[in-house]
Amino acid sequence: MILCSDPGKQATKYQKEIKKGINRVLSSNSYILGQELYELEKEFANYIGTKFSIGVANGTDALEISLEALGIGKGDEVITVSHTAIATVSAIVSRGAKPVFVDIEEPFFTLDPNKLQSEVTNNTKAVIAVHLYGQSVDLYKIKKFCIKNNLYLIEDVSQAHGGLWGNKKLGSIGVIGCFSCYPTKNLGALGDAGLITTNDIKLRNKIAALRQYGWEKRNYSSMHGRNSRLDEIQAAILRVKLKYLDQMNQSRQRIAKLYLNNLIDLPLSLPKIRQNSSHVFHIFSVCVEKRNDLLKFLKKNNIIAGIHYPLPVHLQPSFNEYNKYSKLSITEKISLTQISLPMYPELMNLEIEKIINSVRNFFGK
Ligand SMILES: *Cc1c(COP(=O)(O)O)cnc(C)c1O
Repeated sequence: MILCSDPGKQATKYQKEIKKGINRVLSSNSYILGQELYELEKEFANYIGTKFSIGVANGTDALEISLEALGIGKGDEVITVSHTAIATVSAIVSRGAKPVFVDIEEPFFTLDPNKLQSEVTNNTKAVIAVHLYGQSVDLYKIKKFCIKNNLYLIEDVSQAHGGLWGNKKLGSIGVIGCFSCYPTKNLGALGDAGLITTNDIKLRNKIAALRQYGWEKRNYSSMHGRNSRLDEIQAAILRVKLKYLDQMNQSRQRIAKLYLNNLIDLPLSLPKIRQNSSHVFHIFSVCVEKRNDLLKFLKKNNIIAGIHYPLPVHLQPSFNEYNKYSKLSITEKISLTQISLPMYPELMNLEIEKIINSVRNFFGK
């Protein structure tokens, strides 16, 4: 069986180093906010190219705490996309703020910068730009828009760890970058974890306080906070994976190239790589008319493809009150035709060949 993503393969591949890291934590007698996390925070900031990074419990918290640190809450509006993981929007709603959706650019599946201006009101405070499937949004246009309208630019980099815009890492361009390290992500823990990047010392300190009871220092709560800490075991595991992130992204890009070269003559739309950015292929997304038939056909051949995402966020029952959009036509169209072929760095050549041949067979080629 070939799965759409398969984090166990990576855990096996790096198990020697991972066990060494876990053993270090076992004997350290420090399990929360200790040496592993502080080292990871330094190493990750260094990797992304920001002054600071702060570990939190997961990617949803990274977004919610970032909004909170920027003072965004009740009465405020945050512009983002409906074609994303539900978590992006949950974070906005959890703050008591209102999500305002814009449609996506069809070839890239990411936020359409030309649809932003008409959504701005006096209450708009921020844009959450989601680098979807491993591909950057149009940062040039979106950043320019945010500066012009005095809005915070928050990057949701949960699907694009290590991706580039020009020669800059994603997560270093907005005021804040938010990362999920869910096990299947490009940089994945073996449990829940999240990271926030920023160059602003005040934001860094506020975020560090918000993740632990609002503590400015021990037992002194200067603001309302929560518990959203990244534990030492996950931090030790992420330090191992971070060393191999570029190598793993290169494997994803190699697999993507094989897919692109060998499926080019078929009646499906293949991912398009944006100029001035590097695609790190968290997901290899194609669109095809007979999506469900292809899914079934692949499953019969023991290949499990995915859908990202079958129901756009604005059509989810829990977001009913924001479902008044007639203008998200590309988002809705793509949810009916999108399919994700298996994509993870440890996929073997024979498996890639089998996937390519199965897709070709489906089209009688
Ligand atoms: C995975 C993901 C999240 C949420 O991360 P969790 O760690 O599951 O909370 C947020 N945004 C995007 C785009 C994601 O892919």
